[in-house]
Amino acid sequence: QAKADRTGAYRFFDAGMDVLARRLMVLEADIRSGLSRGEFVLLYQPQLSLHTGRINGVEALVRWRQPDGNLIEPRDFLPLAEETGLIRPLGAWVLAEACRQAALWNPPGAPCFRVAVNISPLQLRGVDLIRLVQATLAETGLDPRCLDLEVTESAVIRDAEEVSRVLAQLRDIGLTISVDDFGTGYSALSYVKHLPLDRLKIDRSFVEGLKPANADAAIIAAIVTLGRNLRLEIAAEGVETEAQMRELAALGCDIVQGYHIGRPMTPKALAALIANHPNAAPYAQAVSAAAK
Ligand code: C2E
Ligand code: MG
Ligand code: MG
Ligand code: MG
Repeated sequence: QAKADRTGAYRFFDAGMDVLARRLMVLEADIRSGLSRGEFVLLYQPQLSLHTGRINGVEALVRWRQPDGNLIEPRDFLPLAEETGLIRPLGAWVLAEACRQAALWNPPGAPCFRVAVNISPLQLRGVDLIRLVQATLAETGLDPRCLDLEVTESAVIRDAEEVSRVLAQLRDIGLTISVDDFGTGYSALSYVKHLPLDRLKIDRSFVEGLKPANADAAIIAAIVTLGRNLRLEIAAEGVETEAQMRELAALGCDIVQGYHIGRPMTPKALAALIANHPNAAPYAQAVSAAAK
């Protein structure tokens, strides 16, 4: 029965309550055993610097590989992992695996090829995160400057004072902090100035409808101005077309990520992409013009 449930992906649209509760228990047990059986994998999505035209980092994105080879997406297991606390061991595995891989990409002395790791709201709340990050960096030998932690706007706002302390200690280690899905929190922007941050990642929803001089362009322009004044880097996610990338460069974004640059992929595919990526910097001029 559990096997059959697996291939149907873990969505529960019209299940009755009993069935629902039972399926959730099966899923929880499956996540546990999936972890111990090594079924989780990371894919890496490239991030492109519009200043240099180079891929200078990646975001690690978790997938759950089923025995049949099928990859289950985060939205089908992360909510439950978060609710049950399983996100702690899963998140610890993600961090360790991403740092292990990034250490291979970053031999000593080379310029940093950054790896971004998503940190869930629950992980952010415990004091353990600082110790976990320190221990993982020590074990893998990764230079802290090559690690970026992505926290969501809503997680940051919820407990701003405590989170601020945690983020400050993380930054003292030498890594950077990005605010993921920026602009979706419906909050006052004032929190941004109180928090120790390095980067804002503009949510995909603003990039989707982006056209020259439309409402999304106005919002992105405002975020870029905010970022510049607070000395934060601006990244944009969900970039699917050349036109969006061109517009983001004209608006002064620093970094772009999305299917147009590359899908989440294996380290092997990433190496091939980087080797073949056009290295010219057609956007450098636009970005620096926008900075004036
Ligand atoms: P996110 O951190 O905002 O990651 C970006 C998501 O957008 C990824 O979905 C990525 O595959 C997708 N994406 C990237 N470029 C494009 C594009 O051009 N168009 C469209 N339509 N989508 C694009 P994914 O991998 O399914 O992850 C969804 C969310 O799950 C992530 O959103 C993140 O919040 C969470 N997540 C993923 N991996 C982890 C993890 O290891 N730990 C934690 N705590 N959360 C994770
Ligand atoms: Mg997805
Ligand atoms: Mg992210
Ligand atoms: Mg996001």
